[in-house]
Amino acid sequence: MAEQLDLKSIFDCQDYIQARLEKQEVIGLITLDLSSSGMIKEKHGLEFYKNIFSTISSFLVSFKGKIFRQDDLVLTNDYRDDQLIILLISKPRYKKVLDIYSLKIAAIRIISELKSNIIKYNTEFEKIRNIIDNISYGYALVKYDKNKNIRSIIFDAFSEAYLRQKFDEISEKIISMVSHELRTPLTSIRGFAETILQEDLSKEEIMKFVQIIYNESNRLNNLVNAILDISRIEAAKVHFKRKKFDIKDVIENVLELFYLRIKSSDLTIIREYSDEESYIVFADEEKVEQILVNLIDNAIKYTPFGGEIRVGIKKQDSEVLVSISDTGIGIPDKDKPHIFEKFFRTSVSMSVAQGSGLGLVIVKYLVETLGGRIWFESQLSVGTTFYFTLPVDETR
Ligand code: ADP
Repeated sequence: MAEQLDLKSIFDCQDYIQARLEKQEVIGLITLDLSSSGMIKEKHGLEFYKNIFSTISSFLVSFKGKIFRQDDLVLTNDYRDDQLIILLISKPRYKKVLDIYSLKIAAIRIISELKSNIIKYNTEFEKIRNIIDNISYGYALVKYDKNKNIRSIIFDAFSEAYLRQKFDEISEKIISMVSHELRTPLTSIRGFAETILQEDLSKEEIMKFVQIIYNESNRLNNLVNAILDISRIEAAKVHFKRKKFDIKDVIENVLELFYLRIKSSDLTIIREYSDEESYIVFADEEKVEQILVNLIDNAIKYTPFGGEIRVGIKKQDSEVLVSISDTGIGIPDKDKPHIFEKFFRTSVSMSVAQGSGLGLVIVKYLVETLGGRIWFESQLSVGTTFYFTLPVDETR
């Protein structure tokens, strides 16, 4: 059993931190959040929680003089009671300064030391391993600012560490989703190619497998393009070339593009706009085509055989309103708030068609950057309508 440590709240260390900061030192703050590793208290009881908390804290104290110099490490506690805070007072060995990068390395090192050593302390191996695997960490530099009081300096560092923790959690989630999405088509491409190479197959069988390889490589291509689009968007590297054009022509081109799929699903296309009229918008033609391709592709993908797709254009005041309606699977009410989130897919749609959950993120960004709005209405098993607007001229 680990010894019980009496950890003081971080705000009890104010004087100490102030004294160190006044000597022009930068202090590193690393937070280890136990609450993020699931409902430990609820699952295993308060006694177990206390035990794990003090095990981890006394193990951290044992780092003194090992990973860090004796006085460099101060361990405190959050007022919330489920967060351990490590203060690193000076620069790591062999480093010129204590910067944010070396702090991250220190945090990673602490977590991996915990992982490989804490088990020695405790017999409840699996439970503890699980908790340690899921501890998240944040880190921030505490820097002296003579215009701020020490309490708000600590508080700011705290908020920064919290943001970093959340950011790292989200990036990890995204990376694991992306790699899963990439691996699935790759595995099947390799599998089918291997079968063709190794087995004595008839021409029909070979054609069937090559078709699958072709479909899967298309899927991979779309996914990589979507990921590239998103990273360009996030890096603010998308360029827009705006001009006036008739959006009806772009819609007709896109419908033409999907002609084969529309036919093979026996879908009826209903145009709710006039042949004779023109519907001029002021936008980037290529981007508008990309928006329409995504929305019409979804309408086709999520509408069963024999269904109907309506495409409407309306002129109103200073904008043009486009609508794309389908008689497809619809979107459950509980999923509606998440439809424009990265990687989000409704569970009903996953059993119907493949997708990445990235298309609508791109569509929303494009529409809004072009000065328009986007929204949808949907009823489960009845159908979905996506609406978007685009400005008519440059004044918006
Ligand atoms: P993808 O279709 O590639 O998965 P999108 O970002 O275009 O990605 O769409 C996200 C999700 O929104 C889809 O996976 C699906 O769950 C839902 N969705 C989009 N359009 C429709 C639609 N017309 N009908 C039903 N669900 C839709």
